[in-house]
Amino acid sequence: MKNRLKFIGILFSISLFFISCDMKENTSKMSKNLNIEKYTGSSESEKSYLIYNNKNALLIDALRKSSEAKDILKTIKDKDLNLEYILVTHGHPDHFVGLGILKKEFPKVKIIVSNQGIKDEIIFWAKFMEKNGQFENESPMKLKSEKNKDGFDYHKEIKIFEGNILKLKNGGEFLISSNYSPSEADFISTVYSPDLNILFSSDLCYNKVHMWQAIDLNKIKNWKNHLISFKEKYNSKGIQVFPGHGEETDDTIFDINIKYMEDFQSLISQYKNKDKILEEMKSKYPEWKHGDFFLPPSIDFHLKNE
Ligand SMILES: [Zn+2]
Repeated sequence: MKNRLKFIGILFSISLFFISCDMKENTSKMSKNLNIEKYTGSSESEKSYLIYNNKNALLIDALRKSSEAKDILKTIKDKDLNLEYILVTHGHPDHFVGLGILKKEFPKVKIIVSNQGIKDEIIFWAKFMEKNGQFENESPMKLKSEKNKDGFDYHKEIKIFEGNILKLKNGGEFLISSNYSPSEADFISTVYSPDLNILFSSDLCYNKVHMWQAIDLNKIKNWKNHLISFKEKYNSKGIQVFPGHGEETDDTIFDINIKYMEDFQSLISQYKNKDKILEEMKSKYPEWKHGDFFLPPSIDFHLKNE
């Protein structure tokens, strides 16, 4: 009987422990007052993140297709949020083509980038895509012109955000970094939320998605250095990392991504044969997605250039 009482007592204290952990978890979330919704594009597992307090929202990146950005639009409406900002982290199409439809629906949203380089790259790709017929299903992104007065006014609508602290009305602070030498993109920015202890790394991290490597060796070196600097900067902070491609993870992704780039380079110098390298990379990284999309141009680039 005594033993049984003791056992019940232990059970009771264990459950109290878990209940109190649970409460802490809830209250910390409540005091931070921020929530996140995640969206994934179908073509490259590219990510878009909606972060919001009880009223106002920041969207980080806007996916590759208007049809997919509609899901973001729906959440904002269903939750009756005010979309205050869209931050485009860099000028690659898989991160901005959903902008137009959001802008049409929420005309007051401030579309921001960290520097002129990102804005220029967005405009470069928009012109390229329109010229090549890739905006046929993306009419909200067609460039504004004499002929198309309803088009998207890239020069006017995309603003360069001054400073590096973005604050949402009603709470939520975000630290923006954009001081990165050319790597995955020539210009890129990342967002850290101290409230959530989350790094939105944009395309400086890919999680279980084959990494874009069709860039010169110097950019690959820079990219590795950015990851090393993350390791130092966020060392033992227990951060979560929300990448530009793939699911959220922790800070082990920095080393995983460095290793991926090293494996890729060593196979390039070892084999000089496209199919062999493709096969080897796929077998080294069997769970990683979109190999057929990202790997062939990456391999071609290095076989041609070395
Ligand atoms: Zn990118």
